Amino acid sequence: IIRFEKVVKRFGDVTVLDGLDFTVAPGEKVTIIGPSGSGKSTILRILMTLEDISDGVVWVGDEPLWHEKAADGTLKPASEAHLHRMRTRLGMVFQSFNLFPHMTVLRNITEAPVHVLKVGKAEARERAMGLLDMVGLTEHADKFPYQLSGGQQQRVAIARALAMRPDILLFDEPTSALDPELVGEVQEVIRKLAEEHDLTMLLVTHEMRFAREISDRVCFIDAGAIREEGAPEELFTAPTEERTQDFLRAVL
Ligand code: ATP
Ligand code: MG
Repeated sequence: IIRFEKVVKRFGDVTVLDGLDFTVAPGEKVTIIGPSGSGKSTILRILMTLEDISDGVVWVGDEPLWHEKAADGTLKPASEAHLHRMRTRLGMVFQSFNLFPHMTVLRNITEAPVHVLKVGKAEARERAMGLLDMVGLTEHADKFPYQLSGGQQQRVAIARALAMRPDILLFDEPTSALDPELVGEVQEVIRKLAEEHDLTMLLVTHEMRFAREISDRVCFIDAGAIREEGAPEELFTAPTEERTQDFLRAVL
């Protein structure tokens, strides 16, 4: 459902993604691990169309993300309308929650479905309450983000992303801004999503034990390319590449 083909991303003179080839199958739960600055967030930001690419093609389903397919099969730069349509297929949960501070929990969740997807207010509200139930926050619907703990805010952020009914959900270090005692409740929600939904999930995390529990596949990225990938049991217990071994020795 996601395919990066020889994707290059440069910031000025700095090459952050260096011919990245990377795929995620429909319904697959994939974790990206790797050193700081290796390009993990950049991959997610490209998918969210928060960054463009310097070369290569990114596919979401059978549509190119940063291009549109012309009638003759060639690719031309994407229009705003195309990007807008592609954006609604993906949801993202950020490290820093990014809730709207001046809106209640409920409004945070209904805002985009109502204004972007044109869902009716009553229906959006009903779905939001269902999602709040799923993340265990029904009684907090009318509070504001500042009245919630970090773990609760992050669970609202997950509900908000799901409210757009994305095909693909991206997580960028969703627990690394949390106090240690709040990490578990957020991981529990993500674990439940991974188990119960056929949603495609792409997760960046430094929590190796969590990565091992929830992913079908783990990709180790270093200096802008995938250096090793495999089932979590294999990659964590018997990495074959020296770079992967060094990285895991440092973080495990
Ligand atoms: P971390 O584990 O620290 O979050 P990361 O793997 O997510 O790291 P990225 O955020 O993808 O790394 O950044 C990769 C490289 O790109 C870094 O060297 C970073 O400094 C650089 N970079 C990212 N965004 C920009 C930008 N907007 N302008 C210039 N350089 C950038
Ligand atoms: Mg990052």
